[in-house]
Amino acid sequence: MSETRHNWTKEEILDIYNKPLMDLLYEAATLHREYHDPNTVQVSTLLSIKTGGCPEDCGYCPQAARYHTDIDGNDLMSVQQVKAQALRAKASGSSRVCMGAAWRNVKDGPEFDQVLEMVRTINKLDMEVCCTLGMVTENQAKRLAEAGLYAYNHNLDTSEEYYKEVISTRGYEDRLQTIQNVRKTNVTVCSGGIIGMGETVADRAGMLVALATLDPQPESVPINALVAVDGTPMEDQQPVEIWEMIRMVATTRIVMPKTQVRLSAGRTQMSSEGQAMCFFAGANSIFAGDKLLTTPNPDVNEDMKMFNQLGLKTQKAFVKAPQPETIEAQDSNFAALGEKPKWTRPGHKIERNENAKLKSNLVAED
Ligand code: SF4
Repeated sequence: MSETRHNWTKEEILDIYNKPLMDLLYEAATLHREYHDPNTVQVSTLLSIKTGGCPEDCGYCPQAARYHTDIDGNDLMSVQQVKAQALRAKASGSSRVCMGAAWRNVKDGPEFDQVLEMVRTINKLDMEVCCTLGMVTENQAKRLAEAGLYAYNHNLDTSEEYYKEVISTRGYEDRLQTIQNVRKTNVTVCSGGIIGMGETVADRAGMLVALATLDPQPESVPINALVAVDGTPMEDQQPVEIWEMIRMVATTRIVMPKTQVRLSAGRTQMSSEGQAMCFFAGANSIFAGDKLLTTPNPDVNEDMKMFNQLGLKTQKAFVKAPQPETIEAQDSNFAALGEKPKWTRPGHKIERNENAKLKSNLVAED
């Protein structure tokens, strides 16, 4: 087996991304077969446990309160609602549930306690449970770990340079800090990004450098294609070509050979043939369900039809990394601290974000 490298440079990654496609696919597929079963794909389910009303200004996100989009927001779901949805997901082949809340960061208090209870509940269903709740402190990550959390998602989104063109309300450093905080626990790290936001190929390579030079590398890397939602600053962004997605997946596979590469948002814009090439290039997970947080996603039956056509099997839970040990049954060692961490707020102006906000204010005044 080849050694995992942690010293990738942007130039090396660009050279890989820009290889003739057949060479790129061959190299990625060969490496994929060294570390993974090429005929097995994990099906994960993403649940939006608290939708909309987010104070951040992420330019791609319909859940940001400042933009006028037609999503239906909801308060934090109950533990029972989440359990019912997790059971449904399990029955239709999912082995992992990812719960997303539209928060800037986790705050100690009753809502976080409720999320911890959701984690304990899904953990008992013998599914991998992942959360994406915004920035977390080390203490909060430890509390999630002892509730039995398997993975924490916190995407870098793009390169550090282009990040400043996408979000002004939080900094790249804080995202890296959150990943470090999670790394201090036994929770696995899930972190990836989005292509098609107007970034250059060098930005894509920059994001992969930031992820691949982490030691250890993230166990899971979602690659999303932007779904341009009306009312967001990126509403006019053209969909990425399938070839770009294939190249991004293949490059991710080559620089992070052991990682679970997740074909995430944007699959409704891809044909089965396009997705098949992504699986060949190293993608080994999809998200199931007709919604991915708030954006459309292929129907589960369509996915199962594609799995049958391609002869793919679904992956069982905890195959890639054993379930982190938890001390859930014992008294918590990590009490809520009520911390007020100083996450940064760069606050620079991003023209398209400002314009979308202005447009939203005009709609509100109508
Ligand atoms: S991506 Fe997350 S943090 Fe950013 S606006 Fe959407 S919900 Fe909020």
